[in-house]
Amino acid sequence: MKRKAAFWGLGGLAAGFAAAVAWKRRSRGLDFRDSKYLLPSREKESSRERIRRNVEGFYGIGPRMAGSPGEREARERILAAFSLIGLAEVKTERVPVLDWSGLAHLSQDERFFEAIPFGGTRSVRCEGMAVDVGYGRPEDYAGLSRKDLLGRVHLASVGETHRAQKYIQAMLHGAKALILCHNEPREGKVDFVEIGMGLPLMPIPAVSVSFETGRILKENPRPLVIEIEAERKFCWTYNVTGIVKGRTSKEVLIGAHFDSWNGGAYDNASGLAALLEVAASFQKRPAFRTLRFTAFTAEELTMQGSLWSCLLHPKRLLATSAMVNFDALGVREGKTYLNCPARLEERIRELPAFQRFSSLTGHKIEFLSPPLVFSDLIWYHLVGIPCAWNVDLPVVEYHTPSDTPAILDYELLEAEIDLSREIADFFANSRR
Ligand SMILES: [Zn+2]
Repeated sequence: MKRKAAFWGLGGLAAGFAAAVAWKRRSRGLDFRDSKYLLPSREKESSRERIRRNVEGFYGIGPRMAGSPGEREARERILAAFSLIGLAEVKTERVPVLDWSGLAHLSQDERFFEAIPFGGTRSVRCEGMAVDVGYGRPEDYAGLSRKDLLGRVHLASVGETHRAQKYIQAMLHGAKALILCHNEPREGKVDFVEIGMGLPLMPIPAVSVSFETGRILKENPRPLVIEIEAERKFCWTYNVTGIVKGRTSKEVLIGAHFDSWNGGAYDNASGLAALLEVAASFQKRPAFRTLRFTAFTAEELTMQGSLWSCLLHPKRLLATSAMVNFDALGVREGKTYLNCPARLEERIRELPAFQRFSSLTGHKIEFLSPPLVFSDLIWYHLVGIPCAWNVDLPVVEYHTPSDTPAILDYELLEAEIDLSREIADFFANSRR
């Protein structure tokens, strides 16, 4: 009887202890049971299944803007995953971030429309006549007179170019403000787009509206009123980094941002899944140069996380010989682009992953020159470090709650990861 009581007593104590440990981990947000959703693989799991699991895992956290609980959870998962993969010198690095939030009011003749301000826009009120500028490309502007453009509110459609390019074109053509409209009705889907940061400096206000609002505004050439209430806050947050040591201290940087406006499967759970895949593969087979894997915060706030990483670690920046960026991958809707210095195009075309890419995916890769740099590669590109960024554009779900794992094509994503892995391998092993 006594033995039985002791058995149950001890069993109860052990169960209580286990529950307390589990609870403590949970309350710290560092739940390593969650790590089973990240690398390493489960038994018999293909890399495509693992990629999908990682995308869904990060997406499941929800919005991950810098300083938010979601951003913290994503960071802790990456930290756990880097450690599980076995990277060396895994750590978080504190960076200051200037946060932004804002509301827009858009009206015409006492009629109000829903509108979302571009991230980074200042508080401002402006009034002006609207002009339709097509997709806002230089060729769209070519057909319009200076008189029709100067001091007007430019209405540009989503598609063909990045919103920052439309913003620059609007400024160059004397716009008072920019309104970005959907280029097609979006039944059953979120009707607003592209709330992300346009550029580091936003002298004119910019908002996005639905297809329907755009249609009404284009048909009624009457003055518009745009009012923006914006707030900026300062917060501290962290980048996550770890390395695979090579035979030299020269580094190749592999980066992907972990912040996002919404759940962000395409932007940028896809890039995080890619980062983990490539980290695991180099951990198994180190290269001549050291590989540094960094998950950046605050990319959606004008790439502040990667900017601080450069500014706070100048020695590391000097040792960086190349960069591979992972951002916005795995969606068939647009085109597959490869941003890289023109002199590397020839070498990249020779890579086996490049040669099998089209037959595997049915997608052709277009090289972009001059490269598109609206992601964490921008600072590295500006100081002359060769960067490669494989990206699928344009995708209208981008920066909306409709950016879910369902819009991803994992066959395409896997092929893109393979290609970037071979580019990283070329950067890390070539005799340059
Ligand atoms: Zn992104």
